[in-house]
Amino acid sequence: MPNEPNRRDVLIGAASIAFGDIAEMKVGSITAHLRFTETSTRFGGLRLWMLCPQCSRRCRVLFIGFGKVACRRCFRLRYQSQSLDQMDRALHAMGKMARQIDPEAEMDLPDKPPGMHWSKYNRLPERYERQSNIWTIATMRRLGIVLPRLRRRA
Ligand SMILES: [Zn+2]
Repeated sequence: MPNEPNRRDVLIGAASIAFGDIAEMKVGSITAHLRFTETSTRFGGLRLWMLCPQCSRRCRVLFIGFGKVACRRCFRLRYQSQSLDQMDRALHAMGKMARQIDPEAEMDLPDKPPGMHWSKYNRLPERYERQSNIWTIATMRRLGIVLPRLRRRA
Protein backbone atom coordinates (compact mmCIF):
# COMPACT_ATOMS: atom_id res chain seq x y z
CA MET A 1 0.00 0.00 0.00
CA PRO A 2 1.52 3.34 -0.97
CA ASN A 3 2.37 5.65 1.88
CA GLU A 4 0.73 9.02 2.14
CA PRO A 5 3.34 11.73 2.00
CA ASN A 6 3.69 13.47 5.29
CA ARG A 7 2.41 16.90 4.41
CA ARG A 8 3.40 18.48 7.65
CA ASP A 9 6.96 17.38 7.39
CA VAL A 10 8.27 19.98 5.01
CA LEU A 11 10.46 22.57 6.59
CA ILE A 12 10.93 26.13 5.50
CA GLY A 13 13.74 27.50 7.52
CA ALA A 14 12.64 26.65 11.00
CA ALA A 15 8.89 26.78 10.39
CA SER A 16 6.64 24.16 8.91
CA ILE A 17 3.51 25.11 7.01
CA ALA A 18 0.32 23.41 5.95
CA PHE A 19 -0.56 23.68 2.28
CA GLY A 20 -2.57 22.65 -0.72
CA ASP A 21 -1.12 22.68 -4.23
CA ILE A 22 0.05 26.25 -3.86
CA ALA A 23 0.78 27.77 -0.51
CA GLU A 24 1.31 31.40 0.21
CA MET A 25 4.05 32.03 2.65
CA LYS A 26 4.60 35.32 4.40
CA VAL A 27 7.64 36.11 6.45
CA GLY A 28 7.89 39.74 7.41
CA SER A 29 7.66 41.70 4.16
CA ILE A 30 8.45 38.68 1.98
CA THR A 31 5.64 36.82 0.29
CA ALA A 32 6.37 33.70 -1.70
CA HIS A 33 4.07 31.33 -3.51
CA LEU A 34 5.19 27.78 -3.09
CA ARG A 35 4.32 24.92 -5.35
CA PHE A 36 4.72 21.28 -4.48
CA THR A 37 5.28 18.07 -6.31
CA GLU A 38 5.52 14.40 -5.53
CA THR A 39 7.78 11.68 -6.80
CA SER A 40 7.48 7.93 -6.35
CA THR A 41 9.98 6.24 -4.10
CA ARG A 42 11.42 2.86 -4.93
CA PHE A 43 9.21 1.35 -2.24
CA GLY A 44 5.98 2.42 -3.94
CA GLY A 45 5.51 5.39 -1.66
CA LEU A 46 5.38 9.06 -2.43
CA ARG A 47 7.87 11.71 -1.56
CA LEU A 48 6.87 15.31 -1.25
CA TRP A 49 8.97 18.18 -2.53
CA MET A 50 8.73 21.91 -2.68
CA LEU A 51 9.62 23.69 -5.90
CA CYS A 52 12.04 26.53 -5.47
CA PRO A 53 10.20 29.80 -6.34
CA GLN A 54 13.35 31.02 -8.13
CA CYS A 55 14.54 28.04 -10.18
CA SER A 56 11.69 25.49 -9.87
CA ARG A 57 14.05 22.75 -8.76
CA ARG A 58 12.71 20.17 -6.33
CA CYS A 59 13.95 20.72 -2.83
CA ARG A 60 13.22 19.71 0.73
CA VAL A 61 14.27 22.90 2.42
CA LEU A 62 13.94 26.52 1.36
CA PHE A 63 15.78 29.47 2.82
CA ILE A 64 14.71 33.03 3.40
CA GLY A 65 16.96 36.01 2.95
CA PHE A 66 17.78 39.03 0.80
CA GLY A 67 14.05 39.60 0.33
CA LYS A 68 13.36 36.26 -1.26
CA VAL A 69 12.70 32.61 -0.66
CA ALA A 70 14.98 30.25 -2.54
CA CYS A 71 16.74 26.92 -2.46
CA ARG A 72 20.28 26.29 -1.32
CA ARG A 73 21.55 26.28 -4.85
CA CYS A 74 20.02 29.66 -5.75
CA PHE A 75 21.51 31.31 -2.69
CA ARG A 76 24.84 29.75 -3.48
CA LEU A 77 24.82 30.84 -7.13
CA ARG A 78 23.77 34.34 -6.28
CA TYR A 79 26.34 34.90 -3.61
CA GLN A 80 29.28 32.83 -4.72
CA SER A 81 31.38 35.92 -5.37
CA GLN A 82 31.62 36.41 -1.63
CA SER A 83 33.85 34.30 0.52
CA LEU A 84 31.93 31.11 0.94
CA ASP A 85 34.56 28.68 2.10
CA GLN A 86 32.64 27.30 5.02
CA MET A 87 29.39 27.10 3.11
CA ASP A 88 31.08 25.47 0.14
CA ARG A 89 32.84 22.87 2.24
CA ALA A 90 29.59 21.93 3.96
CA LEU A 91 27.73 21.76 0.64
CA HIS A 92 30.46 19.64 -0.86
CA ALA A 93 30.32 17.20 2.06
CA MET A 94 26.53 17.03 1.84
CA GLY A 95 26.57 16.32 -1.90
CA LYS A 96 29.17 13.62 -1.39
CA MET A 97 27.08 11.87 1.26
CA ALA A 98 23.93 12.11 -0.84
CA ARG A 99 25.77 10.54 -3.78
CA GLN A 100 26.93 7.63 -1.65
CA ILE A 101 23.25 6.68 -1.61
CA ASP A 102 22.18 7.82 -5.05
CA PRO A 103 24.82 8.77 -7.63
CA GLU A 104 22.35 11.20 -9.22
CA ALA A 105 21.54 13.03 -6.00
CA GLU A 106 22.44 16.70 -5.73
CA MET A 107 22.20 18.05 -2.20
CA ASP A 108 19.29 16.40 -0.48
CA LEU A 109 19.87 13.12 1.29
CA PRO A 110 17.88 10.36 -0.43
CA ASP A 111 15.87 7.69 1.39
CA LYS A 112 17.63 4.43 2.17
CA PRO A 113 17.69 2.26 -0.96
CA PRO A 114 16.52 -1.36 -0.48
CA GLY A 115 19.96 -2.84 -1.12
CA MET A 116 21.81 -0.76 1.46
CA HIS A 117 22.37 -1.97 5.00
CA TRP A 118 20.88 0.16 7.73
CA SER A 119 24.23 0.08 9.49
CA LYS A 120 25.74 1.98 6.57
CA TYR A 121 22.77 4.24 5.95
CA ASN A 122 22.25 5.18 9.59
CA ARG A 123 25.61 6.85 9.84
CA LEU A 124 24.79 9.26 7.05
CA PRO A 125 21.82 11.32 8.26
CA GLU A 126 23.62 12.33 11.43
CA ARG A 127 26.74 13.41 9.58
CA TYR A 128 24.60 15.03 6.91
CA GLU A 129 22.62 16.94 9.50
CA ARG A 130 25.84 18.25 11.04
CA GLN A 131 27.04 19.59 7.69
CA SER A 132 23.60 20.97 6.94
CA ASN A 133 23.65 22.85 10.24
CA ILE A 134 27.10 24.25 9.49
CA TRP A 135 25.83 25.42 6.13
CA THR A 136 22.68 26.94 7.62
CA ILE A 137 24.52 28.78 10.37
CA ALA A 138 27.17 30.10 7.96
CA THR A 139 24.40 31.26 5.62
CA MET A 140 22.44 32.92 8.38
CA ARG A 141 25.54 34.75 9.54
CA ARG A 142 26.10 35.91 6.01
CA LEU A 143 22.50 37.07 5.80
CA GLY A 144 22.97 39.00 9.00
CA ILE A 145 20.47 36.93 10.91
CA VAL A 146 21.11 36.96 14.61
CA LEU A 147 20.81 33.45 15.93
CA PRO A 148 18.93 32.82 19.12
CA ARG A 149 20.83 30.75 21.64
CA LEU A 150 20.29 27.14 20.81
CA ARG A 151 18.63 25.22 23.54
CA ARG A 152 20.27 22.05 24.62
CA ARG A 153 18.30 18.91 24.11
CA ALA A 154 17.18 17.48 27.42
ZN1 LIG B 1 16.42 27.53 -6.53
